[in-house]
Amino acid sequence: MDLDTLIQDRIRDVPDYPKPGVMFKDITPLLADHVAFAGVVDAIVNHHGRGTVDKIVGIEARGFILAAPVAYHFGAGFVPVRKKGKLPANSFEQTYDLEYGTETIEMHEDALAPGERVLVVDDVLATGGTARAAADLVARSGAEVVGISVLMELSFLHGRDKLGNLDVHSLVTV
Ligand code: AMP
Repeated sequence: MDLDTLIQDRIRDVPDYPKPGVMFKDITPLLADHVAFAGVVDAIVNHHGRGTVDKIVGIEARGFILAAPVAYHFGAGFVPVRKKGKLPANSFEQTYDLEYGTETIEMHEDALAPGERVLVVDDVLATGGTARAAADLVARSGAEVVGISVLMELSFLHGRDKLGNLDVHSLVTV
């Protein structure tokens, strides 16, 4: 099975979670399959190439699971972006719109140095609001977003449109 087929096979659709009308993309079967998990991590690292980034920014919570092994294999550091109120030290915050209401995410002010090259990693790109806000947090630090890597892109939600000319790399697109 090629990686594309393997990823699609190991991501489970859960209808009406966490609320009616949402088709949740559950990556836990993929994480439990060591061939699929390793293949995903390798594909993200190979797409950009070792030595091309200084820090991997992972987005809470499933983004952390992917971003940490990616950081290890890149030889890069890992930086968490978390929901408001979860980080202990001084943080930048960024608020963005959801379908209903807003969400605020944060990153430590000293997590990135100006000029550092940063790859943002998450599991799913949906409307793009979360990735956009994470990229804005990186920019506030004076660091540079070299790309955004996601396991799965839900193209019908046009998340890319929010991300301008940032390099968006998705392993599978549905
Ligand atoms: P968005 O800001 O709309 O691009 O949403 C992306 C964030 O919400 C990511 O952190 C995803 O983990 C999560 N997310 C949004 N939609 C889904 C979905 N259908 N299945 C799984 N996760 C999702």
